Amino acid sequence: MRSFSDDLDPLHAASLHRTLRLLDSPQLPVVRSEGRELLNFSSNDYLGFASASAVREAFKRGIDQHGAGSGASRLVCGTQRPHAELEAALAHLKKTQAALTFSSGYAAAVGCLPALCGPDDFIILDKLVHASLIDGARLSGATIRVFPHNHLEKLEHLLQWARSKATAASRVLVVSESVFSMDGDWAELWDIVRLKETYGALLLVDEAHAFGIMGPQGRGLAAKLGISSRIDIHMGTLSKAAGLSGAYLCGSRELTDLLINRARSFIYSTAPSPALAAAALEVVGLLLPGAYGEERRSRLWGNLALLTEALEGRISEPSSAIVPLIIGAEDGALRLSRRLEEEGILIPAIRFPTVARGKARLRLTMTAIHTEDQIRQLAATLLPLLPPSPV
Ligand SMILES: *Cc1c(COP(=O)(O)O)cnc(C)c1O
Repeated sequence: MRSFSDDLDPLHAASLHRTLRLLDSPQLPVVRSEGRELLNFSSNDYLGFASASAVREAFKRGIDQHGAGSGASRLVCGTQRPHAELEAALAHLKKTQAALTFSSGYAAAVGCLPALCGPDDFIILDKLVHASLIDGARLSGATIRVFPHNHLEKLEHLLQWARSKATAASRVLVVSESVFSMDGDWAELWDIVRLKETYGALLLVDEAHAFGIMGPQGRGLAAKLGISSRIDIHMGTLSKAAGLSGAYLCGSRELTDLLINRARSFIYSTAPSPALAAAALEVVGLLLPGAYGEERRSRLWGNLALLTEALEGRISEPSSAIVPLIIGAEDGALRLSRRLEEEGILIPAIRFPTVARGKARLRLTMTAIHTEDQIRQLAATLLPLLPPSPV
């Protein structure tokens, strides 16, 4: 039998080995790790809500009112009020009939796709969708097809093909992110919606990296583009701009009814702490007009503009809070990341299998609570280290 190190050694050899970094501070623009302070440009806490006092207070109040844990799956012991209130608030924000929350985005994806699709069905995914959606599609047993990133002709071709194979009862489901997690670019949502309507397919859009920061009240990219109502299944997480953890699926009441009855990651998993739901409810409130979510959103976009200017044309204008610095070689990306760390800056190298082989990158993320000084310090450190052509 092969040993564990037989599996680990090739990872080291290919610069693909990963380790955990211990932090001794909250997720903030400056983190403490191994006795050093590092300027942190790696967090998905885009609006700084993970440390916002209103959110921390809501979390604490939630514990006092509802307890620290939830006791069981929501189908077993009953659903605590904060979960129901959070789902009502999310449905209201997303302008859908209903919402259902999950303990994580991963759980939402691997619960949803097998709940909706089985061996008689077809799932068509953008090549760059998140691992959780790929795993969910595989678990479903549906026939899976993948189209190259944002390649609409190929998507249309696959929709035609699926229609020709599908029975009258078959579902055809198209899956895309709205803002892609490792590139920060946008899906061609207008055309994807048009195509899915032409071929009578369903569409799931994962707004993990758009929720909270794009569109009116941070409803996401689909809302920004004015096509929300044409999307069947809205997915998003509470772990990125919402600063917490958990995820939602929004859509029709029948959709959430089906998920409650079929999504195994919902049924067979203990509900997240009711206090966490109370904190998430506070975050949704902060996104609404008149609360300070609006101001944080505009600070985030201002910070991104400042970074673009300070990097003197070496990056293209960011279309989200994610700025990928594509290096290519795995060892080159690791070297750059380590070099930056020596200079006191934390930006992780993202490598295979999170991105394709040879597409290793530094995934720089901006937040609303970085200061101008911090951004200028980043640019000053980064500029001499970047490859000469734009990345
Ligand atoms: C982070 C992420 C997920 C998973 O969400 P978690 O809450 O971290 O489990 C799903 N989809 C996308 C696009 C993501 O970026």
